[in-house]
Amino acid sequence: MKSNKAANNIQDLQYFGEFGGVNPSISDSSTYTFLSAKTMFDTFEGNADGCYLYSRHSSPSNLYLGKALAAMEGTEAATVTASGMGAITAAIMQICQQGDHLVCSRTIYGGTYAYLKNFLPKFGVKTTFVDITDLNAVEHAITDKTKLIYCESVSNPLLEVADLRSLSSISKNSGLKLMVDNTFSPLSINPGNFGADVIIHSLTKFINGTSDTVAGVICGTREFIDELRNVNDGACMLLGSTMDSLRSASVLKNLRTLHIRMIQHSKNASYLAEKFESLGLKTVYPGLKSHPSHDLFKSLMNTEYGFGGMLTIDVGSIEKANELMELMQERNLGYLAVSLGFYKTLFSAPGTSTSSEIPLEEQKSMGLSDGLIRFSIGLDADIERTYKTMKKCMLDLNILEPVNSL
Ligand SMILES: *Cc1c(COP(=O)(O)O)cnc(C)c1O
Repeated sequence: MKSNKAANNIQDLQYFGEFGGVNPSISDSSTYTFLSAKTMFDTFEGNADGCYLYSRHSSPSNLYLGKALAAMEGTEAATVTASGMGAITAAIMQICQQGDHLVCSRTIYGGTYAYLKNFLPKFGVKTTFVDITDLNAVEHAITDKTKLIYCESVSNPLLEVADLRSLSSISKNSGLKLMVDNTFSPLSINPGNFGADVIIHSLTKFINGTSDTVAGVICGTREFIDELRNVNDGACMLLGSTMDSLRSASVLKNLRTLHIRMIQHSKNASYLAEKFESLGLKTVYPGLKSHPSHDLFKSLMNTEYGFGGMLTIDVGSIEKANELMELMQERNLGYLAVSLGFYKTLFSAPGTSTSSEIPLEEQKSMGLSDGLIRFSIGLDADIERTYKTMKKCMLDLNILEPVNSL
């Protein structure tokens, strides 16, 4: 079945520990010996397959995790990094040089936005931010300096869906690369199937799923991944955002249950989104028919894994949003915290937290209102109970009129 492919690809990998352990042994070394000096030289030149040099370059544990993530995204190769930002910054710097230009969605992760808007211009790389759902705007923003179109398959925090097929044909027609941050929709969407050249994830979120580390990955062609690790001019090798082997071993173990978790996150989020909407709350969830890109998401998704675990509601003002989040935390419905993909529900008001890097007037123009609450819905076993308690919180704070809730 096509829809299971990504999860099967992870499941079907087989590697043993050096003593026959069912988990691969963790490589607990920063440096590696060579039997001959010649092999050491060849490894520096990138010509000695299967040899390890130094763990900033690669390590067995990191290669195992990279292999599993490449299998998940269906790319030739992947390389893991110490954080999602470590993946994004390195991948963009590998592709762009001074004078180059990017076209980027205006609704993206706050850190990525700040990097493109404030940091890269210092090195002569400029970005035009566009409404990524407006393909004309994307085409118009392309100049002869453009190297890259950058977007999130499902955007943070507005949950806009990128039309990956069209963006890929635009980028191919203009000789550009398409880079997609797929952090919000692992397994549900495989951007590589629709022509994305480079796919990055913050593993910190759903993929690791235990909120115990930051981590990232870049997935792409063998050639691109090798370039990133090149000892002479590879951004991963030289900028040094290397994942530690102990951590990559633990992320690999968590990755194996991703498919089960995504199904539950999606099931719970979908239940709550429908209930919230029926209460008359302004609810955004790609699984709702009212979502402007509901059909587009459907056309991209591996149906098995649903529409994901993220939803937003708008409760009118930041004061109401803050009151509600504090009360929900008090009643043990989740945590007032940034990030996503945890077993508990996490909620935050993006305007004053994860998207606060984006200037207020730009937040307004992109539809990021200050009463918006972003939810990462947890793995709750009894989502009906969760819903009832959430509804009670909203009634107690007069966010819902009692009449709505009959
Ligand atoms: C969290 C996040 C990032 C950054 O990842 P880190 O692991 O925190 O560095 C990038 N993109 C998206 C969509 C994210 O949610």
